[in-house]
Amino acid sequence: MDHSSPTLLPPAAAREFGFFVDGAWHGGRPLFERASPGHGVPVSLLAKCTAEDLNLAVAAARRAFEDRRWAGLSGAARGAVLLRAAEILRRRRDEIAYWEVLENGKPISQARGEIDHCIACFEVGAGAARLLHGDSYNSLGDGLFGMVLREPIGVVGLITPWNFPFLILCERVPFILASGCTMVVKPSEVTSATTLILAEVLAEAGLPDGVYNVVTGSGRTIGQALSEHPDVDMLSFTGSTAVGRSCVHAAADSNFKKLGLELGGKNPIIVFADSDLEDAADAAAFGISFNTGQCCVSSSRLIVERSIAAEFEAALAAKMAKIRVGDPLDPATQVGAITTTAQNEVILGYIARGQAEGARLLAGGGALDLGRGHYIAPTLFSGVTPQMAIARDEIFGPVLCSMPFDTVEQAVALANDTVYGLAASVWTKNIDKALTVTRRVRAGRFWVNCMMAGGPEMPLGGFKQSGWGREAGTYGVEEYTQVKSVHVELGKRTHWIG
Ligand code: NAD
Repeated sequence: MDHSSPTLLPPAAAREFGFFVDGAWHGGRPLFERASPGHGVPVSLLAKCTAEDLNLAVAAARRAFEDRRWAGLSGAARGAVLLRAAEILRRRRDEIAYWEVLENGKPISQARGEIDHCIACFEVGAGAARLLHGDSYNSLGDGLFGMVLREPIGVVGLITPWNFPFLILCERVPFILASGCTMVVKPSEVTSATTLILAEVLAEAGLPDGVYNVVTGSGRTIGQALSEHPDVDMLSFTGSTAVGRSCVHAAADSNFKKLGLELGGKNPIIVFADSDLEDAADAAAFGISFNTGQCCVSSSRLIVERSIAAEFEAALAAKMAKIRVGDPLDPATQVGAITTTAQNEVILGYIARGQAEGARLLAGGGALDLGRGHYIAPTLFSGVTPQMAIARDEIFGPVLCSMPFDTVEQAVALANDTVYGLAASVWTKNIDKALTVTRRVRAGRFWVNCMMAGGPEMPLGGFKQSGWGREAGTYGVEEYTQVKSVHVELGKRTHWIG
C-alpha cells in the first residue's frame, strides 16, 4: 500500500502482530482484536501476553543491561543507533502515521506531524547520549578529589496510554536509550501496533537484542505485573492519575523502584483583554480540539477577563463551529474519532452533566453521526462555576469551560484551583502580566501567547497530581540515571590509629 496516497482506506484485513522479546518475535498467544475507531473495521490482532512472557522480557532486559552490551558503548555509538533509527522513521513515516490513525482515530495530517516530532526526539536523544556527563568537585582540598558519576539506572518499565501512542513512546525511548538503560514496554491494549513497529525500526538500526522489549496485554494484568516487578529498577508511567497512584503503591510494595509519572491535567488558558483576541481565540479552539481533546495538556479551562468575556466566547464559538470533524484518513480532517467507546460515553456524560449543572452551551454539545465511529463536536460551555464537575474533572474530550475573572490575582487563583499542574497558557501583550502569571501558576509546561509549542529539547512533566519527574531533553536522560559520588584521596592517609 502507498501510505502517502491522498485517498487512504482502512486495510481489507486485520494485521496480526506478535510481541518482541530479546530481539525475536513471538506468537501463539490468544489474540485481542482492535477495530479502527474512525471506521469500525478490525485493523489489528494483538497478543494477550502472560505474566510469564513479561518475566522473560524483564529477564532479557536484565541480561542486556548487566552484560553492558548497550551501557558499555560510548555515547557516540549509542547516538549512532538513535540517528539510524531517525533515518528509518523518516522512511517509514507515512506507514507509521497510518497505523496510528487506524488504532487511535486521530487525523492523518496530525499523525504525520507527530511522527516528524518523533524523528526529532531520536535526533535530540542521539545528541543527549553524547553530552551526558557528571560533575566534579575540585573544592575538597588538596588531599581529596570528588567526582559525580551518572550511571544508567538499569531495567526500565515503560507503560504508555492510547491518546498519543507513538509520540509519548518516542518522548521517552530515545532518552532511556541515551542513558544506557534497557527496557520493557507495555503499550495501551487498544493502540499497541506502532510500539511494536518501533521494535522493527530499532532492530534495523542496530540496537542490540534485549535492549528494547515489548509485551502486549491489558493494564490490569501485564501493566500491574510490570509495576510490581521486583527486577525492574524504574517505571515510567504515562496515563491516568488513578492508575499512577496504583503504580506508587506497587512500587512501595515491591522494590521501591524509581517512578516517573505523567498523569492527568485540567489546564488553564488565561486570556487578558489586552491580548491579540483573534490569536487567542484560534489557540483556545485548537487547544481544546486537538486530538479530540484526548490530550493531557488540552487547555480545558478558559479563564477570560470579564470585560471581553462575552465577545471572546462568541468569536471562539464561531471558530469552533468551523472545525472540520470527520474521517481520520481524510487529509482535510482536523478532528477525528473518539478513541474508545468507553471514552465516548465519558465525554457525552460530562456534556449532559454540564447542562444539568446550569452551564450554557455556546458551541457543539453532542455526538456527530458520520455513519460509523464515534465523533463529538467541539463544545464550549459558558457560565461555568469552579465547583461544577466540568470545571474540576479531567474530561479528556473536546469540552471547554469558560470562567470570567476581574484581576490578575483572581486569574491566578482560578488557574491554581485544581489538583493538577500539567500545563498552562497565558495571553496578554503586557509583559508584567505575562511573567507574573507564568511565575505564579503551578504547572510544568507554560505557553505565553502560544499553545502546545515546543520540541524534544524541552523537559515535559507536571506539578501536583500531574506527576513526578521530567521526560525528554537532557532532563529526561538524567531521570534514567543514578548519581554516584566518588571520593579519591590523593597522597598519604592521615592515620586513625596512632
Ligand atoms: P490509563 O491510566 O487507563 O492507562 C494507561 C496505561 O496504563 C495503559 O497502557 C494501560 O493498559 C495501563 N494500565 C491500566 N491499568 C493499570 C494498572 N493497574 N497497572 C499498571 N498499568 C495499568 O490511561 P489512558 O486511559 O490510557 O489515558 C488517559 C489518561 O492518561 C488521561 O488521564 C491523561 O491525562 C493521561 N495522560 C497523561 C499524559 C502526560 O504526559 N501527563 C499523556 C497522555 C495521557
